[in-house]
Amino acid sequence: MAGTLNFSPDDRYNAFITTCREAPFCDGALAGTAVAVKDNISTAGIRTTCASRILESYVPPYDAHVVGLLREKGAAIVGKTNMDEFGMGTTTETSAFGPVRNPVDPSRVPGGSSGGSAAAVAAGFVPMALGTDTGGSIRCPAAFCGIVGLKPTYGRVSRYGLIAYANSLEQIGPMARTVEDVSRLMSVIARYDPHDSTMLDRPYDHRPSADIAGLRVGVPEEYFGEGVDPRVAETVRDAIGVLEGLGADTVPVSIPGMRHALAAYYVICTSEASSNLARFDGVRYGPAVDTKKTWHEAYQDLRQAKFGTEVRRRIMLGTFALSAGYAGRYYAKAQVARRNIKEDFERAFRDADVIAGPTMPTVAFRLGEKTDPLSMYLSDILTVPANLAGVPAISVPCGRVDGLPVGLQLMGRQFEDERVVDAAFAYEQEVRR
Ligand code: GLN
Repeated sequence: MAGTLNFSPDDRYNAFITTCREAPFCDGALAGTAVAVKDNISTAGIRTTCASRILESYVPPYDAHVVGLLREKGAAIVGKTNMDEFGMGTTTETSAFGPVRNPVDPSRVPGGSSGGSAAAVAAGFVPMALGTDTGGSIRCPAAFCGIVGLKPTYGRVSRYGLIAYANSLEQIGPMARTVEDVSRLMSVIARYDPHDSTMLDRPYDHRPSADIAGLRVGVPEEYFGEGVDPRVAETVRDAIGVLEGLGADTVPVSIPGMRHALAAYYVICTSEASSNLARFDGVRYGPAVDTKKTWHEAYQDLRQAKFGTEVRRRIMLGTFALSAGYAGRYYAKAQVARRNIKEDFERAFRDADVIAGPTMPTVAFRLGEKTDPLSMYLSDILTVPANLAGVPAISVPCGRVDGLPVGLQLMGRQFEDERVVDAAFAYEQEVRR
């Protein structure tokens, strides 16, 4: 392919923070493919803001590992997508650059925090995009916008160059309109990188197969209980029925530790965030501050002015959870709850090869509908367990409720990303026929 891709979509959904002109290469698995990248993934020479005023004019000096791989395989990075500020949110409404709208119904949120990536794909601006998922941020917007999104096994994709929110939970992952494209993008980005010490050398090289005869699909009662819209539950049960029709066997499983999942997640993610975001002090990162002030005054003024409300709330919560005298009460307890959930999954995966449930308890909310943080946090209940356990999880569209997309979530054993991809592929091929 010759020349430069001049990418200027009619961005009526506010999916992009920055669009760029880039010349794609002629060869490689993604030759000439336009890919959008979430704005918390570093791109050399292209501004990377995390949708925050504090990084409004930050231009990284280097590429994230995954970005280098995209370029190597011939992709053109055509834009940086809008997101919740630092990934903290479920609707993309906490962005300092304004909310993203859902292309399926622009009065609704696209989900978050990778809402810009999902909207760009759903609107047809790009065939594929990268998102990041700390507690559901790939799967939630994929479900709300009716596309496919995969959160890889923790340690399968390099986090080098990802601006950290909560290191022990997050992964970069692929989003696209089809399972095949998600798998194709995954094959490019899941490559060993010695710069990320939490990685294992387990490259993903896989072509999806729709043969799922004999696959044991675990159905956890906790994923269909309180708080889950009954119509969403029904739609997902029908989708599981389709898997059975393809020769899969369903087995009941249980993740009893789920009742502590949200509490554990919000203690751990805020604790890690409070430590990760301490570096934005106006000296090394962030806009320069007035040097006539004392360090404390300058630090306080800058962070008060440049971080949004949700980010400041989480920094305070995390600082409190880690403080002397409280760390044992909150942080240590959260780690115990996390271990219990991980063991629940290990037990469930003795009887089942994949675990199926809804991705989100409801369909997409209206913009501005969720005003209190707690009700927002509650909507993450079905996505955070996979991050706490480090297992792979995919969301694939499985029908609609009130005309809005519903996502079927499939989780697998660690490093069995291929298996959840195959199950999603089998479902998708069957319903598209
Ligand atoms: N909604 C969750 C949170 O706000 C998940 C976000 C994410 O995965 N980055 O933390």
